Amino acid sequence: MKALCWHGNGDVRIDDVADPKIEEPRDAIVRVTSTAICGSDLHLLDGYMPTMKSGDVLGHEFMGEVVEVGSVSRNALKTGDRVIVPFTIACGECFFCTKGLTSCCDRSNRNREVAEKAMGHSPSGMFGYSHMLGGFAGGQAEYARVPFADFQARRVPEGLSDEQVLFLTDIFPTGYMAAENCAIEPGDTVAVWGCGPVGQFAIQSAWMFGAERVIAIDRVPERLEMARAHSKAETINFDEFKVYDQLQEMTNGRGPDRCIDAVGCEAHGGGSFDAVLDKAKAAVMLATDRVHVLREAIMCCRKAGTVSVPGVYVGMADKLPVGAFVNKGLTLKTGQTHVHRYIKPLLEKIESGEIDPSFVITHRAALDEAPELYKTFRDKEDGCIKVVLKPGMTSTDRSKKESARRVVRV
Ligand code: NAD
Ligand code: ZN
Repeated sequence: MKALCWHGNGDVRIDDVADPKIEEPRDAIVRVTSTAICGSDLHLLDGYMPTMKSGDVLGHEFMGEVVEVGSVSRNALKTGDRVIVPFTIACGECFFCTKGLTSCCDRSNRNREVAEKAMGHSPSGMFGYSHMLGGFAGGQAEYARVPFADFQARRVPEGLSDEQVLFLTDIFPTGYMAAENCAIEPGDTVAVWGCGPVGQFAIQSAWMFGAERVIAIDRVPERLEMARAHSKAETINFDEFKVYDQLQEMTNGRGPDRCIDAVGCEAHGGGSFDAVLDKAKAAVMLATDRVHVLREAIMCCRKAGTVSVPGVYVGMADKLPVGAFVNKGLTLKTGQTHVHRYIKPLLEKIESGEIDPSFVITHRAALDEAPELYKTFRDKEDGCIKVVLKPGMTSTDRSKKESARRVVRV
């Protein structure tokens, strides 16, 4: 089958790889009908995530049709079922899963001892997200193997299109959990750093949890425009304004009550001194993460407020203003998303018409075009905000297909 494979920093290609097979009784094989590129994939493309191997199949936001089911999962699934697949892999039975904390599943990471060395304890396995997190092939492919499929693969109503439900696998629950983690109170102002897809869903979700005002921060014009026009936020362009000063002014000197870092480890610093240091240190491997936004959120947040971090961080960071954090009495909430617990309530919001998550999609393409679209998405070219790939789509434009098969160094 064809799949999008990682071959090193800035090097992703469409390769022919072996079809996935049932390995365990709880497995299922899914024919992928839609799959998306996530901001988290950019951390792989840019070499932030250790333990990647050449040839790894990427992709953790995918859905499709069940084509084969292991003996145990047959009780819950049958071939032909249309399913979405959460990006965090969970057994549904361990201590953490039974508490709904599925991104902390104790049993799904096959390489847990590697993660334990790096983090003290292992999070769940993840599709297409390094060998430290299980070395599971991802879903930017024609087919994918889904472990624990009787819990992991979730049937979706036929009346809803792929594009309406695909983002239940990751970015909609991620934005929602980020807002939930804020414990928003009536009258609260919520500031969201990053107007990428996760930021957009964090803004939408902040309203759902009763925010009085939402202020969104980025520098990419079309993303700021989407935050304003579609997600109804006020905006700050961090290239034009000093974020701290602007937030102070907009909140009468108190600071936003809740701050969401929807940027993560590749923050741009807008030339600030700490960000220049981060970049220099990352370049010589002295630090791994660029934590400018987390620092800024801690400094901007009002006293006794909450900083919620859906943005992904990978390794070590330095110069976190821990003094400000403690003395201002802030609460920090974080995590890979416990996707499974949010699917039912968020599906209800989609079915009732409260939200149509497809609003973030700017690019639709065949799988063959993925290498070029990784670059387009990373470089924020062509107004790109969210890419959906359709492995079943056959491009009639042959020359376009040929060029997409090239090795693209980005
Ligand atoms: P994205 O790359 O499309 O968006 C990031 C946005 O942040 C960009 O628009 C960029 O311009 C903006 N940005 C960069 N520096 C900034 C700064 N200093 N201030 C304000 N904005 C800044 O990515 P995305 O898909 O929206 O994902 C965002 C983050 O969420 C990533 O780190 C991703 O890995 C993470 N994520 C986490 C989970 C989870 O389970 N916790 C799930 C999905 C994605
Ligand atoms: Zn993702």
